[in-house]
Amino acid sequence: MKAIETGTYNVILRTISEEIKPQEMKHYVKLGKEMIKYIKEPKNKGVGLAAPQVGENKRLIVVSLLRDRDDENYSTVMMLNPEILDFSKDTETDTEGCLSVPGGKAEVCRPKSIRLKYIDEKGKERILMLDGLSARIVQHEVDHLNGVLFVDRVNETILKQRKKEAVL
Ligand SMILES: [Zn+2]
Repeated sequence: MKAIETGTYNVILRTISEEIKPQEMKHYVKLGKEMIKYIKEPKNKGVGLAAPQVGENKRLIVVSLLRDRDDENYSTVMMLNPEILDFSKDTETDTEGCLSVPGGKAEVCRPKSIRLKYIDEKGKERILMLDGLSARIVQHEVDHLNGVLFVDRVNETILKQRKKEAVL
């Protein structure tokens, strides 16, 4: 397995991914397990990965649920058909990178907390509230399912910061 690294114009990375149907579950749970193995490889040091990044336009992500960057006691889970139900009004700016945008890092402003629904690897529907870094990782990965890359959010962030800093 290898994450696509052809930059921001790659067609697969720019396509809206399809829902996983019940009869496809087994196949994509298997792929999810491979994706978890992939991000955990020390050379990749990933905290999340979305199926389009490995060439499949399907709504599957794997995420490490880190409280903060020093968290060493976290779990990495797969989410099928994830859907963010609510975003907080509070936002936070932090640095992001992406396995598909090698070397690129930027400050991105996102809602601080989210409520989300997904299907777990056993086929059970779950609802989860997340905040801080884990909420950021999930938002980054769900963006991938919608053909959005973090670099698209950078200009938005700069504009928001300027608005905040503007003295009238
Ligand atoms: Zn990414």
